[in-house]
Amino acid sequence: MPELPEMETYRRNLLRYCQGQVIDRTEIGREKSINVPPGVFQQELKGATITSVDRVGKHLVIHLSTGAHLMGHLMLGGAIFYGTEAETPTRTFQVIMRFGNGKALYWYGLRLGWLHLVTTAELTARSAELGLDPLDEAFTAPYLGELLHGRRGALKPLLVDQQLFPGIGNCYADEICWAAQVHPLRVAGSLSTYEQARLWSAMKAVLTEATHLGGYTETPFHRGDTFTGGYLPRLEVYDRKGEPCHRCGSRIAFEHATGRKLFYCPACQPEAAGTAGAGATYPALQPEDLVQQPTGTDGV
Ligand SMILES: [Zn+2]
Repeated sequence: MPELPEMETYRRNLLRYCQGQVIDRTEIGREKSINVPPGVFQQELKGATITSVDRVGKHLVIHLSTGAHLMGHLMLGGAIFYGTEAETPTRTFQVIMRFGNGKALYWYGLRLGWLHLVTTAELTARSAELGLDPLDEAFTAPYLGELLHGRRGALKPLLVDQQLFPGIGNCYADEICWAAQVHPLRVAGSLSTYEQARLWSAMKAVLTEATHLGGYTETPFHRGDTFTGGYLPRLEVYDRKGEPCHRCGSRIAFEHATGRKLFYCPACQPEAAGTAGAGATYPALQPEDLVQQPTGTDGV
């Protein structure tokens, strides 16, 4: 599933290849993928120039010269390809945006995904529903501490909550927990200030590096694309069940818990007293839990 680094990779590719291009013609292969009648969608896009591209969590926002915006979400298996008709992957396309240079943007795999035409007011309202982007400068360690404070549930399902951590999904949540050496089923509110700081810096480091390397999904944006998917060989735990941990050599564990797949290193990320098990109850967070703990003495 595309997550923050994959969508940031799309944003950069769209800026590089499509900014300034004029949309000649739009074809709709699946009406459910868009939010207005096909004729309206086609008419609104016809002759519009792509002026800029933004990302809000896992959402892409394509700004048009008409003042309208396209907001898209690829959900589970969606992807975008840019190129000529002859270069396209053998797929059924839900939306095709054709440019004057003979190339087009092909949106496919939008079984659950969508591409909506929105006004600035609608874009603002929808963006406001999402939390602060984890790569935003305002997403500080104390801010993360506030998000975790008093949470009785496990860390993993919290990390993939798009209202709290927009852009983080199953893969990067596991990678972040491994980098922070925190068990993914720890009670989120039980992390010490020191562990919160480790989680925060792991979040920034993993998402930044994955973005710089083109994310982990191997769906090329254009023919000959060698950038997209460059982070795949760097994954430490995700989809590495039974393979050795690169930090300690232990076998990577895999399990289903809290409705999620979990990949983690049982040695580097040991279950602590605060790990959330089925039906477990935990004492309320005490003020001393939030006191800064010295390095190496937090019992992890
Ligand atoms: Zn390990």
